[in-house]
Amino acid sequence: MKNITVIGAGTMGNGIAHVFAQKGYTVSLVDVSQDALDKALATIDKNLSRMVVKERITEDIKQAALSNISTYTALKDGVVNTDLVVEAATENIDLKLRIFKEMDELTGDDVILATNTSSISITKIASVTSKPANVIGMHFMNPVPVMKLVEVIRGYATSDEVTSKVMEMSKTLGKIPTEVNDYPGFIANRILMPMINEAIYSLYEGVAGVEEIDTVMKLGMAHPMGPLQLADFIGLDVCLSILNVLHDGFGNPKYAPCPLLVNMVTAGKKGIKSGEGFYDWSHGTKELVLADNFK
Ligand code: NAD
Repeated sequence: MKNITVIGAGTMGNGIAHVFAQKGYTVSLVDVSQDALDKALATIDKNLSRMVVKERITEDIKQAALSNISTYTALKDGVVNTDLVVEAATENIDLKLRIFKEMDELTGDDVILATNTSSISITKIASVTSKPANVIGMHFMNPVPVMKLVEVIRGYATSDEVTSKVMEMSKTLGKIPTEVNDYPGFIANRILMPMINEAIYSLYEGVAGVEEIDTVMKLGMAHPMGPLQLADFIGLDVCLSILNVLHDGFGNPKYAPCPLLVNMVTAGKKGIKSGEGFYDWSHGTKELVLADNFK
């Protein structure tokens, strides 16, 4: 596999394009928004430059990586001669089903169709294609150039051959791939989201404040950041939607999102992206919010 198509040039798409291009793959980066493509190239350039300054890569590798990336606004132009497509468009099931249907029609039987979805069923996505054996989850972690894990998710029909090709290819990126089966939340979010939800319940029930909950988990469990700060980073709307996938998928009340999380998302408090969540980020730093906000 040599030619890679990355669909979606947002937070994850630009990171995925970066790591493939840095390792010598030819990358076609596709987004419906020209602005997103321009921003992605600027971000990749900035992140590669930082690696040059830290002497992790040479200037030559940076320039070669940048020259490996072409950008497109039309899917049909970005999949010509592709070997592997990694879809990292917005987390919306109807959108992903539409993209996979179109990709299926535009690509041959040997092309692997991967998705970076955080929570949507791989089996469901595969069901709209004519080659479900070639559809697989490649769940990169944010920030992609830094994080080692790729959660490789086998849909119900994913073949052994496709799984082993994706596992091997992930290793060539310097990543550690881990194979899991296709059930709601896979492994990463199935374990992470209930922890974040429990932290929110602890706040909601008045067991402790935001700072105290995060401090216990940071210092007591050696987590690099507390669960409430992590929720602000991920986006409270994203946390809520993943919890809803777990709740609907398993039908088990233990995954029901905390009412405080639902209220905060409804009120537009989505974490860093909206300027406020469990902390106030509106001044560019992490500041505490009045405890009254969490009643
Ligand atoms: P994002 O909003 O930053 O970027 C999504 C991009 O998709 C946007 O640039 C948008 O213009 C583009 N897009 C929308 N429709 C498109 C289409 N039809 N064709 C091509 N591009 C299209 O989102 P993100 O955070 O990068 O998330 C992308 C995917 O990665 C989602 O499935 C998400 O669940 C998953 N993911 C996100 C994270 C994270 O921390 N952000 C981590 C792991 C997985």
